[in-house]
Amino acid sequence: MRIGGFQKFSMSDFPDKISAILFTTGCNFRCPYCHNPELVLPEKYRSDINIGEIFSFLEDRIGKLDGVVITGGEPTLHDDLPDLIENIKEMNYAVKLDTNGTNPEMIYELLQKELVDYIAMDYKAPLEKYSQVCGINNDYNHYLEKIQETLILLITSNIDYEIRTTVAPQILDKNDIQQIREEIGQVKKHYLQNLESGNTLDPQFCNNSSEKLDLKKLAVGMRNVYVR
Ligand code: SF4
Repeated sequence: MRIGGFQKFSMSDFPDKISAILFTTGCNFRCPYCHNPELVLPEKYRSDINIGEIFSFLEDRIGKLDGVVITGGEPTLHDDLPDLIENIKEMNYAVKLDTNGTNPEMIYELLQKELVDYIAMDYKAPLEKYSQVCGINNDYNHYLEKIQETLILLITSNIDYEIRTTVAPQILDKNDIQQIREEIGQVKKHYLQNLESGNTLDPQFCNNSSEKLDLKKLAVGMRNVYVR
């Protein structure tokens, strides 16, 4: 596995936990608003961070940090993800995984082995619009099936999880959010978040001058929907 980034401290990325964040390199999507081009585009990959140094840091912080967030890129692309998490778990850290949901087989394995404590899964758009948001135009139906499989796995599991949707006003509107709600059904928590300006895969999404949706207003009356 390639590790493209490591953040030593966060109070906002793992609910109710002080965490460190480990960023894996590589993704099977190309979301135009992605803020991590250096983890997604091979020509921009950063040099790898030594995993031994990360483990030394985590050993040193036992008792001071509660958990580790594993994000990307897309962490589930890496076959050795369970091994990595097992090593982290041996230090008694809670583990949160961020995923785009395209690898239900890996999620199933992690759930079976009880290696994750919290999963945040993207549900990026209504199915008919998914290709616009994930930047994949060919053969993306395969991904849609996988995302739906992962969603069912989470809903039927006992794990704490959230579904999250980044609302890029260039692509999604109010009707799309309502359509997403119908598609995902009754999930534990569904977070809506506005697209932030910054370094993005597609420069057209860099300066977010399009009018943002009022997500708080939109979420009124929607069960289990929260706004970040
Ligand atoms: S935002 Fe999209 S392209 Fe970026 S890491 Fe997540 S799934 Fe991959």
